[in-house]
Amino acid sequence: MRQIILHGGVGSSDELSPLLNKYASFSINYGDPLDAVVAAVKYLEDDLNFNAGTGSVMRLDGSIQMDASVMVDGNFGSVINIESVKNPVQVAREVMEKSPHVMLCGDGATKFAFENGHPRYDPSTERARKRLEESRVIAKNDKRFLYPGTQSVDTVGAVANFDGKIAAALSTGGSSPMMRGRVGDTPILGSGILVRDGFGIAATGIGEEIIRRQLSFDLYCARDRLEAEWKSIASNSPFALGVVGFNGKEPFVYANKSMAHGYAKLD
Ligand code: ASP
Repeated sequence: MRQIILHGGVGSSDELSPLLNKYASFSINYGDPLDAVVAAVKYLEDDLNFNAGTGSVMRLDGSIQMDASVMVDGNFGSVINIESVKNPVQVAREVMEKSPHVMLCGDGATKFAFENGHPRYDPSTERARKRLEESRVIAKNDKRFLYPGTQSVDTVGAVANFDGKIAAALSTGGSSPMMRGRVGDTPILGSGILVRDGFGIAATGIGEEIIRRQLSFDLYCARDRLEAEWKSIASNSPFALGVVGFNGKEPFVYANKSMAHGYAKLD
């Protein structure tokens, strides 16, 4: 059996779920779970509704630096603060498959992408410019960048389980307000993403909170009582958090705020 589950980022409207169902039904036709999750995240990166790839939010200095990751059981790749590419998730896959490393950041990640044939691309949008004005006001009024109830985040993610073989992928422009150089949970194994022993998870929410909690690893450790662990996390977090994934064959979707998600299955 093949299954794939996508999230549109915690804070994203449920009205986007039919779109995510459509992308899930396209992606499930790929032959391999890694191909499927990368294809799904690329659809989302190219869709202006989401904060990943084209449509990514801007840093306080007006730049766009993106994070993305992919994982299968026993292998991982991520890019951190990559700039001027269309599909960071594809570069993360290439880091995993074509480089001797598992993580590349900043100029090194961007250079690696160009060397691997990704053309220079400007992911900025009018919507991102408007959001930048709002985030500059928040940052000016509160130096701690207190996020709850202020800005939405809208990272995208996908987890696929094809006959027990699991892959996950994530991509984001980050949360806002944020400084240039800030790194969230998306490219960090065990925080935003984890695939291990028949368990796969992709997380969304304020990256600082997800990293402090090692959210994905925490839920993996608690997989025998997943729902109870999630309830305890959700009731103790003032921040928006969401996860999708598979615990064995069972798909799960948990979020403490609205979160568009999509699902497809092929027997
Ligand atoms: N987790 C992402 C970050 O903090 C944002 C999101 O989930 O939308 O960079």
